Amino acid sequence: MEILDGRQISLDIKEEIKKEVAGYIDKGVRAPHLVAILVGNDPASQTYVNSKDKSCKEVGITSSLYKYSKDITEKELLEVIDFINNDDEIDGLIVQLPLPKHISEEKIIQRINPAKDVDGFHPMNIGKMVLGLPTYISATPFGIIQLLERYNIDTQGKNCVVIGRSNIVGTPISILLSRKAKHGNATVTLCHSRTKDLKNICKNADIIIAAIGKPKFLTADMVKKGAVVIDVGIHRVKSDKTKSGFKLIGDVDFDEVSKKCSFITPVPRGVGPMTIVSLMQNTLKAYKKEVK
Ligand code: NAD
Repeated sequence: MEILDGRQISLDIKEEIKKEVAGYIDKGVRAPHLVAILVGNDPASQTYVNSKDKSCKEVGITSSLYKYSKDITEKELLEVIDFINNDDEIDGLIVQLPLPKHISEEKIIQRINPAKDVDGFHPMNIGKMVLGLPTYISATPFGIIQLLERYNIDTQGKNCVVIGRSNIVGTPISILLSRKAKHGNATVTLCHSRTKDLKNICKNADIIIAAIGKPKFLTADMVKKGAVVIDVGIHRVKSDKTKSGFKLIGDVDFDEVSKKCSFITPVPRGVGPMTIVSLMQNTLKAYKKEVK
């Protein structure tokens, strides 16, 4: 069994980004600029935004946080987005989800200029991804594809099972893996909460992507010997073995499943760091105006 070391690969990619950004700055042009909008005080959202900010700074991308109280109105937030859309010094914009209930996430996402939508959540960018046109692929699926690519894991003709059909992970990764592309051409089964006989479907899979949001959901009896397992889930659980009293685990029962598979992503240090670095890559793409 080999660990798919998302942390190491993300560090390699960060080095590549850092060099490229330094090259622009040496030429006297401004650095790429990413803005994150955070509404309210959700601790998990704050943690995600902080780690994106830290990664930006590490590679030389300018990062700004626009923070608003949970009472901001939808109209006010839309105005902020219009302002950012029109600012030529800002390349990428992300709005940290979830938003308070009185604000429509759909309306907010649709207001972002698709050329600045580095999260790849705008319907226009999702449409382009489906058609295989140049676009921003949302960070988690993009990170998974890059992990497979960098470890030379062949997906052609493989049976791939994706568990979870969210708009940000399960659905886009199932489309990417089935596309006619080097790290695509898989036969993909997209499973969800209404899927029957999930265990037998998984047992036939060469590659399993677990994005369910339930700790240790994928157990060893669901996995065939030699399968590749990608664990997207992140859960903070109590632990008496760590100083903080908490540890992170995934949607996969790592200790048991890792004994059976050929490759597996750990949690932490698997898909998580790949997600963040993919956002940096999308910001660079926006800076270079590769997505019109
Ligand atoms: P979500 O809650 O939006 O979707 C979960 C999906 O799982 C749903 O489509 C649902 O149909 C399916 N599901 C639920 N119970 C099921 C069952 N019993 N059998 C089969 N399918 C079932 O989740 P999400 O946003 O895709 O996130 C999934 C997990 O990944 C969460 O733990 C989240 O924290 C994590 N996540 C991690 C990253 C990262 O960077 N590593 C990024 C995004 C999400």
